[in-house]
Amino acid sequence: MFLESHIFRLLITLTLCVLSFVSFTNATPVLVEKAMTSGNTKWTSSFDLDVKPNEVLVSIDISLLPSKGVSGLKLKDKLVLWKEAINQKWNDQFIVSIKGKTKPIRFKVRFTHHNPHHRVVVHPDNWGPNQHNWYLSMPAYVAAHELGHMLGAYDEYKGGALSPASKIVDYSSIMGGNPVKGKAAIRHLVVLEKVLMEEIGTDKVNISNAL
Ligand SMILES: [Zn+2]
Repeated sequence: MFLESHIFRLLITLTLCVLSFVSFTNATPVLVEKAMTSGNTKWTSSFDLDVKPNEVLVSIDISLLPSKGVSGLKLKDKLVLWKEAINQKWNDQFIVSIKGKTKPIRFKVRFTHHNPHHRVVVHPDNWGPNQHNWYLSMPAYVAAHELGHMLGAYDEYKGGALSPASKIVDYSSIMGGNPVKGKAAIRHLVVLEKVLMEEIGTDKVNISNAL
């Protein structure tokens, strides 16, 4: 009985090991959530991370709630433009080497009310967008900037929610003051990188710019 229970326990342990390995490397995505703080500004970085055989897929589900004065039709037009801007700024930019195998990092945004990572109120006009408030009148690339916050990036313009550690200000960055010209950078993916390193090994993960 003693020996049997030990074997049984060993089997369970082995099964759990295999399961936890499978859960990260195969189909099941991992939910990433990290509380972000810069001065008085607080937000949550949240997305699903899925290490697939040929890509690392980052899925961000955003629920857009139209406020008074935002018609469904106008919002529908904007969704297309916002998605395009996000794709243009974030996709085909980064690759990650995992245990020596290089895969692209792909960002997939869905506008859905089902179990969203983020909730955003859409306003008709005025100015002052942030992760939780978007405007029909804002340039589409601002959506790509706000997506950066959702991924865990800080602002990189004076007066913004700067990184408390590095306080980087960079106007050539998507997180700087000019989202139209600004580019996404590897340092914006630090939350994602940290989770990969924790799960796979610090020395086995390396994110770089796609050529
Ligand atoms: Zn910002």
